[in-house]
Amino acid sequence: MLDPKFCEKCEHKLFSDANPVLCEQCAEKFFGTVKAYIEEHPDNSLNKVAEATGVEKKYLKKWIREGRIQYNSPEEAERKRKLENLKRDYKKLLDEEEAQNRHQAQQRGGYHTVDYSRHDKKR
Ligand SMILES: [Zn+2]
Repeated sequence: MLDPKFCEKCEHKLFSDANPVLCEQCAEKFFGTVKAYIEEHPDNSLNKVAEATGVEKKYLKKWIREGRIQYNSPEEAERKRKLENLKRDYKKLLDEEEAQNRHQAQQRGGYHTVDYSRHDKKR
């Protein structure tokens, strides 16, 4: 018989070995925090993630081993960043085009007059 294990954070008794250090609830809670943080700050190091979320690095490493957190190489991060920029630029372009079309639509059929006689007097 194995000794019963307890969650390191809330001291719930653990019934499964699948998560040897955290109970399901704590794991999900911490993972949610980490996930949200990584989504917002994809370029940060593990140390920074641990520091910012307050979730210990050993848990992060465990999730990395399990494939729940995927490491982005600098190249991958750069590629994603470029892709995001590209998308942003493209959207900007579309927005500008749309704004221009709107502008042209407003201009269409508009007239204005030029008072030539006043110009002549100034010379
Ligand atoms: Zn727990």
